[in-house]
Amino acid sequence: MLITPTKALGIILEQVGPLKALRLPLSQATGHCLAEELRSDRDQPAADRSAMDGFAVRSSDLGKCPCELSLIGEVAAGSPARPRVRPGTCVRVLTGANVPAGADAVAIVEQTKESDSGVIFSRPVKAGANIRKRGEEAKKGSILLKRGRLLGAAQIGLCATVGKARPKVYARPRVTVLCTGQELCQVGERVGRHELRDSNGPSLTAALALWGYQGITHKVVPDNPKALAAKLKRAVREHDVVILSGGVSVGKYDFVPEAVQLAGGRIRFHGVAMRPGKPELYATLGGNRHIFGLPGNPLSMMTGFYEFALPALRRMSGLELKLCQPCLRLPLAADGQALAKLVRFVLAKLVSNKKGLSLMPLKSHGSGDLVSGGSADGVIILPRKAGTIAAGSVVAFRPWRPLP
Ligand code: AMP
Ligand code: MG
Repeated sequence: MLITPTKALGIILEQVGPLKALRLPLSQATGHCLAEELRSDRDQPAADRSAMDGFAVRSSDLGKCPCELSLIGEVAAGSPARPRVRPGTCVRVLTGANVPAGADAVAIVEQTKESDSGVIFSRPVKAGANIRKRGEEAKKGSILLKRGRLLGAAQIGLCATVGKARPKVYARPRVTVLCTGQELCQVGERVGRHELRDSNGPSLTAALALWGYQGITHKVVPDNPKALAAKLKRAVREHDVVILSGGVSVGKYDFVPEAVQLAGGRIRFHGVAMRPGKPELYATLGGNRHIFGLPGNPLSMMTGFYEFALPALRRMSGLELKLCQPCLRLPLAADGQALAKLVRFVLAKLVSNKKGLSLMPLKSHGSGDLVSGGSADGVIILPRKAGTIAAGSVVAFRPWRPLP
């Protein structure tokens, strides 16, 4: 009995959990998920700050303009100067400077003129104008980022803002890729007409790198159950996740299920009601270690990676459950043909027109057709339902790379 892709993912997500937490210097924390809440160490901003270059004034002094106030000092950004603004006076302030006591507004420099004795103001200002109030963005102690938040550029900057030099983050899984197949040659080798070059190894390492798992190694292993089991045993000792390609179906030389068991793996499912990628296999080894057996045809492999392996890796990295499997919902730019008994994954290109983004299904010659795959931005997911899904219908789209 085949299970649905949703059921299969459910089985995986019950088994995987976030890895251990560690402290990393900020320079190494990019792409990790927070394993603690990030709190503000002080009010943000820490003091009333000028949002513009201009003059700190008492707004009541500018009731009748033009008018002149005497200039009694200056505060630049980073200056601790604290001249008090008394009635009839003003202080020059630069963007980011603390607003001196006594002032309740900043008049922008463009609406002033300096005279011998002070500054002439051409327009009144409202109380509070051009001042970023102390604590208006966040109060001391408030939560700025939740546990599980992926650290990108803005979040790393926020850590620095609040003095978090060594955030507590989740470790990222150690992953390796083993490609099975007697027919496989390495990219630099001579290739006979009975052979083909291993593209799944390079594709998988590239997909992993795109989603933040850099520097992953891949090897080609022969179609021999004992040799494969030996390689797999070593791989599972040194990694949290092993991704296998090929050898997972019912052919004479498909030894992955046997090798997985020889290596101590417990098969949780083998076969999913989907096209491409029906023979998908998932096994656990205990201790939050996992094996994914993806079919060898390049588009089956890609589908299995995005539907099952990537969500597991993201969960292990500490992402919230609901964010583990990136998905967009967009309208179809042309009809799609669904299947009665299998969830269908169709190559698609993102196209943009006046109405915004939509999904153009691409033709392909089956699950081995990486040539068509080369034009795709991801796959659309057509639910089990015989017949046509009309252009304009909103469908799920699995992007093959992180989108903004
Ligand atoms: P398998 O799942 O092992 O039966 O493989 C199915 C087909 O996928 C093979 O006949 C190859 O054409 C292709 N294939 C398997 N492994 C790879 C690979 N690493 N790179 C490219 N194509 C592959
Ligand atoms: Mg094979």
